[in-house]
Amino acid sequence: MGLACAHELLKSGHSVDIYEADDRVGGMTAHFDFNGLSIERYYHFICMPDQPMFDVLEELDIADKLHWRATKMGYYYNGKLYEWGNPFALLKFKPLSLIDRLRYGLHMFYCTRIKDGSSLDSQEASDWIKKWVGQRVYDVLWKKLFLLKFHKFTGNLSASWIWARIRRVGTSRKNLFTEQMGYLDGGSETLLNAYEKGIIEKGGTIHLSTKVKKIEISGEQVKGLVTESGNENQYDQVISTIPLPFVPDMISDLPVYVSRAYKSIDNIGVVCVILKLKKSVTENFWLNINDERLDVPGLIEYSNLRGLDVNVVYVPFYLPRDNAKFKRTDQDFITEAKNIIKTVNPSVKDDDILDIHASRYGYAQPICPPAFKTTLPPMTGIIDGLIIADTSYYYPEDRSISESVNLGKSLAKFVQ
Ligand SMILES: Cc1cc2nc3c(=O)[nH]c(=O)nc-3n(C[C@H](O)[C@H](O)[C@H](O)COP(=O)(O)OP(=O)(O)OC[C@H]3O[C@@H](n4cnc5c(N)ncnc54)[C@H](O)[C@@H]3O)c2cc1C
Repeated sequence: MGLACAHELLKSGHSVDIYEADDRVGGMTAHFDFNGLSIERYYHFICMPDQPMFDVLEELDIADKLHWRATKMGYYYNGKLYEWGNPFALLKFKPLSLIDRLRYGLHMFYCTRIKDGSSLDSQEASDWIKKWVGQRVYDVLWKKLFLLKFHKFTGNLSASWIWARIRRVGTSRKNLFTEQMGYLDGGSETLLNAYEKGIIEKGGTIHLSTKVKKIEISGEQVKGLVTESGNENQYDQVISTIPLPFVPDMISDLPVYVSRAYKSIDNIGVVCVILKLKKSVTENFWLNINDERLDVPGLIEYSNLRGLDVNVVYVPFYLPRDNAKFKRTDQDFITEAKNIIKTVNPSVKDDDILDIHASRYGYAQPICPPAFKTTLPPMTGIIDGLIIADTSYYYPEDRSISESVNLGKSLAKFVQ
């Protein structure tokens, strides 16, 4: 979001400095060196409705790096692997009665047809789903996915937020029977590199490994910022795109209602284990999981989207930061991820695992309860020259690179 905003500002003649706490740009989208393979720390795919993403790829002259692939989806339900994600697969899903399968299919179809989800904004997601599909379908297909993704927040989530994510993925299709997902040659880094290059060429400066400690305000006007190492720099405009809960500690003069609002936003954390394997786990890109023995909502077999020389699978553990499990070591998650892979595909043995790594981020996603938007302070106008946003502000849309690019561009328009 920060890169998109900076790029836009530089185009309109502003001078821009970017401060990034990490040693690389990209935040959740950043790559790491997985022993010779540069790949995202967290899985990333592109969907057909991601128009702002396509626009920026054109603008940065890298549209030819975008590729689409027909992808498969599966459902691992109580020890059995089912085909998933198309009408035939649903009809073959025996754990539900025919009526239940039809109800589920109708709800999915309805979600892809709604253009505006605002009427769902005040509704609670699990109640809304149960109303459409009934308790049994909810218990079989939704309940565990919700609990393993949202934990204690399940039961207080916005229906329009859940609808928006169903629609984004559900409309990324070649036709009714074939899902289609996109990726960039070289991964998300291709976009990040193009942004970095464009920003530097236009005279912007990127300060890596430079955490901002304080945003300075004098009277009603922003004055600049102080970095963790104590450097003070003056600016007439400051735009913050870091997770909102970090903001109050950086700005002592924020109105109390604004600090409270930022601090009250719950976020879910993630520990994402990535494996290189000699063999494929399944033929699916996305595998939903509902099995008493396995504590993840799914597996993402990334190499079934972007062809790589080796099989690559992500195992995401979504957890609130105050959940005791989030405090476990990376090694604990690595051990659990190996067991999950070997349970889903018992032919995978320890010596098929070539490499393994865990990444964690405490702010993987804001939690959006019903009427979430009404709880967000305005992005501008609180203090002159200060603009504050994060991924919460594209509610009801789900987090995505495309939405961050879109919002980043919009933030630039607030700058005089
Ligand atoms: C597990 C996972 C899977 C995802 N899958 C997809 C997907 O398939 N497709 C998709 O499009 N999107 C996906 N996303 C979402 C996507 O990564 C985000 O929407 C996007 O990266 C958000 O970008 P951002 O700049 O808004 O926020 P962030 O990525 O959170 O960036 C915030 C930046 O602020 C920096 N920062 C924080 N504090 C400070 C400070 N004090 N000083 C300086 N810098 C600071 C951080 O280091 C970070 O770089 C996924 C995310 C996760 C976690």
